[in-house]
Amino acid sequence: MRVLILGGTREARDLAAALVDAALIDELSFTVTTSLAGRVSDPALPAGETVIGGFGGVAGLRAFLRTRGIDVVVDATHPFAATMSAHAVAACASTSVDEEPGGQAAAPEPAPARAHSPLAQPSPAEPGPAEGSAAPGPTGPGPTKGSTGEGSPSGDRQHEDGYGGDRPREGGAVPLLRLARPGWTRRPGDDWHRVPHLAAAAERARALCPPGSAVFVTTGRRQLAPFAADPDRHYVIRAVDPPADLLPTRHTVLLDRGPYTIDGETRLLRDHRIRVLVTKDSGGDLTVAKLDAARALGLPVVMVDRPTVTGPVPPTWPNVDGVLAALRELASAVA
Ligand code: NAP
Repeated sequence: MRVLILGGTREARDLAAALVDAALIDELSFTVTTSLAGRVSDPALPAGETVIGGFGGVAGLRAFLRTRGIDVVVDATHPFAATMSAHAVAACASTSVDEEPGGQAAAPEPAPARAHSPLAQPSPAEPGPAEGSAAPGPTGPGPTKGSTGEGSPSGDRQHEDGYGGDRPREGGAVPLLRLARPGWTRRPGDDWHRVPHLAAAAERARALCPPGSAVFVTTGRRQLAPFAADPDRHYVIRAVDPPADLLPTRHTVLLDRGPYTIDGETRLLRDHRIRVLVTKDSGGDLTVAKLDAARALGLPVVMVDRPTVTGPVPPTWPNVDGVLAALRELASAVA
């Protein structure tokens, strides 16, 4: 069974490793490809094949799924990668329909009877075992960028076993599963301020942090412009790669990728005299230590909520084991 994992998270890497292991030890055969956006300069590469650089929007992903004969897609992207998640929903759903002149997918046909098929595509009324975070977002950035992985994200490759060509997929749409870690939970002693987006986070941080004091921003290297408008506070910005955005006049950039410890985070908050922490509600344990440290020091946390889901939500699992079990079930069904 050919599995495409939309990656960029530790869970995606763990799943790829588990599937490669399963392919070695089981009678079930998985072929694993992970796609990465190519945002970071030195990404941690998963087991199996890797394609890097995006697909070129919904049409590009659909073409990739068809020409590569992908049997199932697992969206294991970060909870804030809303555009990619929305593209996955649209592309998978359109794999079984003809393209209209001009390259647009025809309207999906009514769903076939599928409630009992393990390969059934989910509908909005059939949520998975856990709430997911796939969400439609703005349109994608355009053409596919270059690939530095073993494979190519372009969807024009004929598969070696004969499956190939950007044709409607027989047997229904490619199933889509979602692997999404739960968000963080507030604990006693936390002083969290939830906000819907980064502009609101910048505003709330200014309200909580007196002029002349320092704000710790851990929301990534992009979309920092809302903080740049403030000349009165010092911004300590931590990211994997150097920020590509407008920066505040007074700032310090820390390049790091975790995982982090409570001791290390406490030291950092103290050394930089941080008064407010800003974070996305990413969830997971790789970066949770900053919340523990902020709690211990009595610091307020501005927590950016996850993007809202307005479209169909694929069956969603909160951990690798759940997705692995679902994939085994699918593989057994098609074996
Ligand atoms: P996004 O806004 O949802 O997606 C923008 C575009 O990037 C997509 O349309 C797609 O380009 C490409 N893309 C995103 N994820 C991809 C993937 N796994 N494989 C191939 N192409 C991908 O994405 P984002 O928020 O910038 O996140 C980019 C990547 O970083 C994701 O893989 C995500 O898991 C990871 N990440 C994100 C965050 C975060 O806070 N957003 C944090 C940690 C890790 P095309 O339209 O050309 O296909």
